Amino acid sequence: MPKIAEIIAIGSELLTPQRVDTNSLIVTEHLNLLGVEVVTKHVIGDDRERLTEAIRRSVDRSDIVILIGGLGPTEDDVTRDSAAAALGRKLVLSLEQESVLISRFRRINRPMAKINLRQAYLLEGAEAMPNPHGTAPGQFVSTDRGAVALLPGPPRELQPMVENELVPRLRPVLPPQVIRVRTFRITGIGESDLDTLIAPVYTKYANPVTTLLSSTGDLFVHLRATAESVKQADALLREVGNPIAELLGDRVYSEDENESLEMVVGRLLRKQRAKIATAESCTGGLLAARLTDQGGSSDYFVAGYVTYTDAQKAEILGVPRELIENHSAVSEPVAAAMAEGARRKANATYGVSTTGYAGPDGGTEFDPVGTVYLGIAGPAGTRVLRVRYGGDRYRTRTLATQGALDLLRKTLPK
Ligand code: AMP
Ligand code: MG
Repeated sequence: MPKIAEIIAIGSELLTPQRVDTNSLIVTEHLNLLGVEVVTKHVIGDDRERLTEAIRRSVDRSDIVILIGGLGPTEDDVTRDSAAAALGRKLVLSLEQESVLISRFRRINRPMAKINLRQAYLLEGAEAMPNPHGTAPGQFVSTDRGAVALLPGPPRELQPMVENELVPRLRPVLPPQVIRVRTFRITGIGESDLDTLIAPVYTKYANPVTTLLSSTGDLFVHLRATAESVKQADALLREVGNPIAELLGDRVYSEDENESLEMVVGRLLRKQRAKIATAESCTGGLLAARLTDQGGSSDYFVAGYVTYTDAQKAEILGVPRELIENHSAVSEPVAAAMAEGARRKANATYGVSTTGYAGPDGGTEFDPVGTVYLGIAGPAGTRVLRVRYGGDRYRTRTLATQGALDLLRKTLPK
């Protein structure tokens, strides 16, 4: 069985809206690099009983337990006492830590209050982890199934201690184990449809762990495999990931966690040395903003026209007035003419257009609020997609932007 970890962040301030526990993210990152999954995180106030109880439960269930904070010298810092009670170990004055404390206070030229001596007490059998940036040493306790560690709360003390003291002590306690991740970034499908499609594959496996994340029109599938070696973990990722990739097909726009849809489009445009221009109505410039989000986008982005009124669609993009009069500005022929107009005017390889009803008012019986026409004009001709998005104005505009980028991605040669 792979070793698992729990983290307990301690401090009443972390239970208020003013402070967040950021330390556990640093600890998690390093545990993951050691192949250890964090299975539970807790935030506990400065409360002896609650903390003791939490530590007791965590060491019962998990191999590695990391306690963060509450190592100060004052009465409200209860981590040492609670850990001692939970683990059934005494606190013992370390003469070495006492002299470290005394010389530290001498160095910063301050008298040492008597209560500071509390920080020189270590759990029976614990190893002190030096803290060059503060007074409280960390503590590392080996246990039958793993380890318990006590770390200081201030992030500038915690971070170097995790890297320089905790990780080297944890490594020998752990069996060989690694975590490997495979990510699919997906668009053009809703979250429930996505799950219906791939759940029959991933629910058969507890390892890798599969999670679906979604923000408006943009979905992630994460597979996390734990195994004894990179080779084994990667084999698990293939075993589950390949059938998922097959089911999703072209809806996967990237397998790189950090590659957004606009980055994929930018990469494809650059590869082809193609240029792009946008003609936007209902998305009001959002499409151009996303296409220019990356440094170096001037390699492919030529111009963006935001033409909101009928008159400007005609004047700037050359959309024939009769076309708008006969079909309305939200229509297939107008979307086509906008894309063609932008392409022509900017002398670009591709023109992309959006025109639709973002709401909350407007729309027609045939084209209710949420209807958007996405146009693309390129060397192979012009295509228009009619889509119906539900929801509010924000959602329609975001999905239309995403839809236009995806139309572009699918049109561009791979
Ligand atoms: P303590 O070690 O509990 O005395 O904490 C000292 C300071 O470190 C606190 O006032 C917080 O500002 C900060 N701190 C404690 N725990 C955390 C945490 N989990 N994440 C971020 N900051 C923390
Ligand atoms: Mg505290």
